Amino acid sequence: MSAEQMEKVIVIDFGGQYNQLVARRVRECQVYCEIYSYRTPLEKIREMNPKGIILTGGPNSVYLEGAATAPKELFELGIPVLGLCYGAQLMMHVLGGTVERAPEREYGKTSVTIDPVSCPLYEGLPSSMICWMSHNDYISRLAPGFEVTAHTDNCPVASAQCREKDLYAIQYHPEVLHTEYGKQILSHFVLDVCGCSGSWRMDDFADRQIEAIRRKVGDGKILCALSGGVDSSVAAVLLSKAVGKNLTCVFVDHGLLRKDEGDLVERVFGPEGPYDLNFIRVNAQDRFYARLAGETDPEQKRKIIGEEFIRVFEDVAHQIGKVDFLVQGTIYPDVVESGLGGESAVIKSHHNVGGLPDLVEFREIIEPLRDLFKDEVRKVGLHLGIPEELVMRQPFPGPGLGIRIIGDITAEKVKIVQDADAIFREEMKQAGLDQTASQYFAALTNVRSVGVMGDERTYDYAIALRSVNTVDFMTADVTEIPYSVLKRVMTRIVNEVDHVNRVFYDITSKPPGTIEYE
Ligand code: GLN
Repeated sequence: MSAEQMEKVIVIDFGGQYNQLVARRVRECQVYCEIYSYRTPLEKIREMNPKGIILTGGPNSVYLEGAATAPKELFELGIPVLGLCYGAQLMMHVLGGTVERAPEREYGKTSVTIDPVSCPLYEGLPSSMICWMSHNDYISRLAPGFEVTAHTDNCPVASAQCREKDLYAIQYHPEVLHTEYGKQILSHFVLDVCGCSGSWRMDDFADRQIEAIRRKVGDGKILCALSGGVDSSVAAVLLSKAVGKNLTCVFVDHGLLRKDEGDLVERVFGPEGPYDLNFIRVNAQDRFYARLAGETDPEQKRKIIGEEFIRVFEDVAHQIGKVDFLVQGTIYPDVVESGLGGESAVIKSHHNVGGLPDLVEFREIIEPLRDLFKDEVRKVGLHLGIPEELVMRQPFPGPGLGIRIIGDITAEKVKIVQDADAIFREEMKQAGLDQTASQYFAALTNVRSVGVMGDERTYDYAIALRSVNTVDFMTADVTEIPYSVLKRVMTRIVNEVDHVNRVFYDITSKPPGTIEYE
């Protein structure tokens, strides 16, 4: 990739909660941006030749032993640096100021007053605004050469600057939407202070990647495990545009997909579809159902599905023969969650990543979407002309409906949950709620109870509907679905889906619930 010549800003990760947002806001200014751990050697940062550096927030206290730190030289590269929260405190600490436990910690929306000194970050902004604070420590004494540019009632240094060296420290979080004008402040930094041109576009991303992939793989043979999800689909199309028939996509239908999903994937990627690639669909439903028979433990079910997936894939890989590269649809949140690149704690291991590399002999893994966020991946997908139906679909777990069926899995139960889910999705769309709900689906509870239908006694299952609104999937509110819509869904499900005689709507938020249902 021509990344070396590309104008970029580097975000240095100190383990803060909002780091992904920082990178994203920079990209919204049309400036390319990458995140690196604070452990990245200074030499490497120098080589990347960034136009600017942003230090993120973080959970530690800069004055404690062993806290994440940065060398003094980072501030002497002649590259503008913006420190946010922990990053701001660290800048002061390293350059000779003082950071201490604050007499009053600040958390949440806070009014900040901009001091009457000329600061390029506040150009054209009002002298008072709301910002988002989240800190226990505070900057009690500035490092030499710095001046205060803003304060709050409790915080004498809400921001500070050393104009001469282009160093800026901000105690609050301009990257979160609660901070009024946060976007303008970051944009002033990357465009005005760092002098970035702001000419980077998401569309360029696809074209650049295609070019870079061609250069990298030459005539090599490439293998992609296609799940039909957004990420692997976009990765596959990028690859197919770059190398055509040198790409083979393997799509394992484990029988735990949403209704008609396997056929949709085949329509798009199969021989009738618009792309010139080798497509192999493996209908492995029976294999999966047989392995899962009688298993009720959710962790065990996940494990079986993951293992069987690898086994099926292995069989196909042997038929294909020699492979040079393996494609993975890893996106930035996966990188952080798996603890591969980020400083935040490991949250989960990834189904689509798990195991495959060991099975196939290959030279290298290609991850063309590694630096992107989900909605950015979607933009690339739309730019590449992938059907909206595929690109805009909601997140779907790797083990599929396997974890939306409580208790043991049978073909009959899969059919029930598929049909109920399809009805629910249809009605949500009909009501326009699909535009705002982040994730919604039907799950099959293992509860059976007595009901009456057509004067006959029934003893059938209860379906649970789940729908949440969330921005980051870390916390979630329940969607306030109008009662009339819920009623229609209920009526349709009990009428159209055999073996269902009750419908529940789950009103639990996250926390304490999770979004998925297992
Ligand atoms: N841990 C530091 C504090 O409490 C920084 C917090 C942050 O970066 N959000 O002040």
